[in-house]
Formats: sequence, C-alpha cells, structure tokens
Amino acid sequence: MNPLLEVKGLHVRYGGVIAVNGIAFTVGKGEVVSMIGANGAGKSTTLMAISGIVPSEGEITFSGNSINNLTAVARVKQGIIQAPEGRHIFGRLTVRENLMMGAFLRKDKPEILKDVDHVTSLFPILSERIDQPGGTLSGGEQQMLAIARGLMGRPELLLLDEPSLGLSPIYAKLIFSVVGQLAKEGRSILLVEQNARAALKISDRGYCLETGRIFLSGSSDELAEDARVREAYLGG
Ligand code: ATP
Repeated sequence: MNPLLEVKGLHVRYGGVIAVNGIAFTVGKGEVVSMIGANGAGKSTTLMAISGIVPSEGEITFSGNSINNLTAVARVKQGIIQAPEGRHIFGRLTVRENLMMGAFLRKDKPEILKDVDHVTSLFPILSERIDQPGGTLSGGEQQMLAIARGLMGRPELLLLDEPSLGLSPIYAKLIFSVVGQLAKEGRSILLVEQNARAALKISDRGYCLETGRIFLSGSSDELAEDARVREAYLGG
C-alpha cells in the first residue's frame, strides 16, 4: 500500500542557502511521525515545502498522486493542513471565529459545529475563552488555538511545527498529551519538534535531521535508545 505522504529527493534553497538537501521520508495513514533536530536543521522548511508555502525540488506524493504542481490552497483542499509554529492566529477575531476560519473550505455546517465541540473538548480552556479575541489568550492558549484551528479543516495529514516552542512545561505537557490523544484517534501527523524526548514518546517513527539531511531514522523507541540521539537531543 502507498504511504499517505511520500517525499523523495526534497531540496529547498533560500538564495544561496541550502536549507533541505535531498531528503526522503514517508508518513503512513494513521501514523504519527516525528522529525527532530537542532535549530536550523531544516525542519520547518520541510513542512513548508510539503504545504507548498516555499518552492522545492524533488517529488512529493500524497495519497499516491504527485502534488508538486499544486498551490498551497490546493494542498489544503487535499487535506494537508499545517498548524503553524508560534502564534499565527487572528488576534482580533474571537476564539470561535478563529476556529471557523479553520473550516473555511468546508460547507457542512452541522459537522463544522460538531467539530467545534470536539476541538474545544480537547482543549477545554478554549471553550471558556470562546468569545474572547484570540489576541488576548496566553501564548500557550494561542498555540492550542492554532492546533484546534488546524483540526477544524479535518486534515488527512496534520503538520505540526514545534507545538511546544516557548511554552511552560505545563502547557507543553498538555499539548503533547492532546497530540498523543490525536494519535490514538488514528490521525496521521507529521510532528516537527526540538523537544525530542516528548515527540518520540508520542510518535510511531522518527527522522533526525541535521543541516538539511536525514542522518538517522527508525522507530521512536529505536531512536530514543540510540546513543547519537541521546547524546545530541536527550541530554546523554
Ligand atoms: P528551528 O528549530 O530553529 O526553527 P529548523 O530546523 O526548523 O530550525 P529552518 O527554519 O527550516 O530550520 O531553517 C533551515 C535553514 O534555512 C537555516 O539555516 C535558516 O537560517 C535558513 N533559512 C530559513 N528561512 C530562510 C529564509 N527565508 N531565507 C534564508 N534562509 C533561511
């Protein structure tokens, strides 16, 4: 069976900088795959190449079809949805309006409303803040809103870019526990994270990226045991 996402020979250049240097990886249906690596390894760039936000060379296949020539919006329509790093939510819109923006390509109103209930049950704080402007939420709450908004698009593949970045340990734990729950629901997720320990705990497989190349891949358990990973990302 074809993997849901298959990437081969992916290259991304920013002018003279080679950010991603010929990587290959897959995400299967229902799999949670982490991509770990230090600052500047090319993790975010890889996600943006899959979303079609930055131009890339190489082959990207989704559900068996090439998506290389599709625009970013066309890729969203195919179900590839990225929840951005940081706080890219709409600050002046309420939490509810932000969530509805996540469903902007959908027409199934009753189902959309059901999904609002579902995502706010995953992040109960969002239901308490539902009529508050997004910009008044704390950083951690905004990160939750960004993920919840991504889920409102009913992704076939959810791309998560550093969901724990800059969060207090309590918020980070909460975010990882929700991603773990999404994994149990059978969602397909590509998770980019610097917090290798937490990412490997909730994922099936992983890839280690360094200066634009994958230097190691395997099951999350294998990676967590690997001496090089332990040394570089897990504090020895
Ligand atoms: P971090 O965890 O710090 O976000 P990352 O692994 O996600 O790092 P990227 O953000 O993908 O790494 O960056 C990969 C490389 O590309 C880095 O060397 C970065 O400086 C460079 N880079 C990223 N965006 C641009 C840009 N718009 N123009 C030029 N170089 C860029």
